[in-house]
Amino acid sequence: MPDVAVVGSGPNGLAAAAVMARAGLSVEVHEAADTIGGGTRTAELMQPGHLHDICSAVHPMALASPFFRDFELARRIDLVVPELSFGSPLDGGRAALGYHSLERTVQGLGRDGDAYRRLLGPLVDRIDGVMDLTQHQLLRIPRDPLAAALFGLRTLEQGSRLWNAGFHEDLAPALLSGVAAHAVSQLPSLASAGAGLMLTALAHAQGWPIPLGGSASIAAALEADIRAHGGVIRTGATIESLQQLRGARATLLDVAPRDLLNIAGDSLPAKYRQALEAFRYGNGSCKVDFILSGPVPWAAKELGDAGTVHVGGTRAELARAENEVSAGKHPERPYVLVAQPSRFDTGRAPAGRQILWAYCHVPAGSTRDMGEAVTAQLERFAPGFRDVVMQTRVTTAAELASYNRNYVGGDFSAGIMDVRGLIQRPVVSRVPWRTPVPGVYLCSSSTPPGPGVTGMPGFFAAKHALKDRFGLGVPSLGL
Ligand SMILES: Cc1cc2nc3c(=O)[nH]c(=O)nc-3n(C[C@H](O)[C@H](O)[C@H](O)COP(=O)(O)OP(=O)(O)OC[C@H]3O[C@@H](n4cnc5c(N)ncnc54)[C@H](O)[C@@H]3O)c2cc1C
Repeated sequence: MPDVAVVGSGPNGLAAAAVMARAGLSVEVHEAADTIGGGTRTAELMQPGHLHDICSAVHPMALASPFFRDFELARRIDLVVPELSFGSPLDGGRAALGYHSLERTVQGLGRDGDAYRRLLGPLVDRIDGVMDLTQHQLLRIPRDPLAAALFGLRTLEQGSRLWNAGFHEDLAPALLSGVAAHAVSQLPSLASAGAGLMLTALAHAQGWPIPLGGSASIAAALEADIRAHGGVIRTGATIESLQQLRGARATLLDVAPRDLLNIAGDSLPAKYRQALEAFRYGNGSCKVDFILSGPVPWAAKELGDAGTVHVGGTRAELARAENEVSAGKHPERPYVLVAQPSRFDTGRAPAGRQILWAYCHVPAGSTRDMGEAVTAQLERFAPGFRDVVMQTRVTTAAELASYNRNYVGGDFSAGIMDVRGLIQRPVVSRVPWRTPVPGVYLCSSSTPPGPGVTGMPGFFAAKHALKDRFGLGVPSLGL
C-alpha cells in the first residue's frame, strides 16, 4: 500500500494528490470513471472534432484560487481571458455587459454606472482580501478585516430586498443577478449575493478565463504533476470500503458525504454519521450542449464576444425562475447559463462550426429534459438561434447524478448553497476536512470553501493530513 490513497480524481482529489506527492509520499489515486477529471472533463460528446466541456467550462478560479496560484496553473496551461467576461441580454436587443475593465462596464450602465462602481470598486481594489475571505472556511478571522467588512456589507445589501435601492434602471441589476444566480439558491439571498459579488469582482480584477482545449487541460496539468512526483492513478476503480485501502497512512476522499457514509461505514461514530445522513444537498442542473452551424445570432451583437452569457432577462425574471426551482418547480422560462468556448478557442470545433455549452437549474433529482425550454430562451434573445442548431444533447439532473457519484440528485455544488450549508460543510468544525476516523479526510467540494474548480478543499485536506499523519508542512507547489 502507498502512504496515501486518494479516492476520486476531480480537481480536489487531484489537488490533494499533487500536494501529497510533492511532499515526497507515495500516492495512489482511485477513480471510479474510465477517465480522470470529475467536473473537469472535455469530450467529443456528439461528433468528432467538436470538444464539449461536460461540466465546468469557465474558470475564474484558475487564476484566483490560492492553490492554483501556488501551483502556477497559468504557466502550465493556456488560458484565454475574454475582454467581455459576461453579459445579460434584455428584451429589445439590449444587453448589460460585464467587461474585464470595471470602468468600461460602468460606462455601459447609464445612470447606474456610479452606483455599480461604488458597489464593486472597493472589492476589486481589495480582491486579495476578498479571496482570502471566500476561499477559506467562513468561521475564521479574516486576514484583511477591511475587505471582509466591505464584502459583508455589500453582501447584506445585495442579499436582501434592498438590492435595488441604489439603482434606477434594469441593466446593472440584471448584470449582478446573472452572476448571483450561479449559486443555485434563492434570489435574493446572502449566499447568492456573496458568490455573485466575489465572481463579479474577480471578473473586473482579472477576468474569467477559458482554458485552451477545455477544462480537461486543468486535470491534465494536475495529472502530469502527480505522475512527475511518482504518483499512480487508477481509473475504473470504484472504492466502496476503507477495507480496499487498508495500509494507507492517510486516505483522502474526494466524495460526497453520502459516499463517505458507504465507504467508512461503521468506523464512523454515531453523531458524525447522523450529521452526514442529515447533510443537505441542493437542487440540480440540466445540461444542454449544442453544435451550431455558426455563431449565436444574439439580438445584442456585443454578446457574441462574451465568454459567458446569463440568459433569462431582468433581475425580477431571474429571481422568479430561481425561486421557482427553490420551490421544487421547473421554470417555464429558466435562467440559462451559457458559455461560448469556441468563440475564443478555435480548436474546439471545425471551421465554420461552433459549440455552445448551456445549463439551467431544476429541482433535485429531476428527470425532465429542459432542451426545449433552454432553446426557447436562447431564441428569445437571439432570433434565428433554432436555424443554427445542428445537434443538441441533453443531460438531465438525474443523468448528471449517475455520471458523477458526487452530484447527488444532480447537485454539482455537492451541498446546498445557503449560509448554513456553507458553514456546516459537512460539519461545523475548525478542521472540517478531518473525519473522526484517524487518517481519513474528506477533500471534495462538500468541504470548505465549497464548489468550483479551485482545488482548495483538496489543498486544505492535504495540508491537515500532512501535519497530522506525517508531521510535514506543505511542500513547494510551483514549477
Ligand atoms: C454542468 C456543470 C457546470 C459547471 N460549471 C462550472 C464552471 O464553469 N466553473 C467552475 O469552476 N465549476 C463549475 N462546475 C462545478 C465544478 O465542476 C465542481 O465544483 C468541481 O468539479 C468539484 O470538484 P471535486 O473534485 O470536489 O469533485 P468532482 O469534480 O465532482 O470529482 C469527483 C470525482 O470522484 C469520483 N468518485 C466519487 N466517488 C468515488 C468512489 N467511491 N470511488 C472512486 N471514485 C469516486 C467521481 O467519479 C469524480 O470523478 C460545474 C459543474 C457542472 C456539473
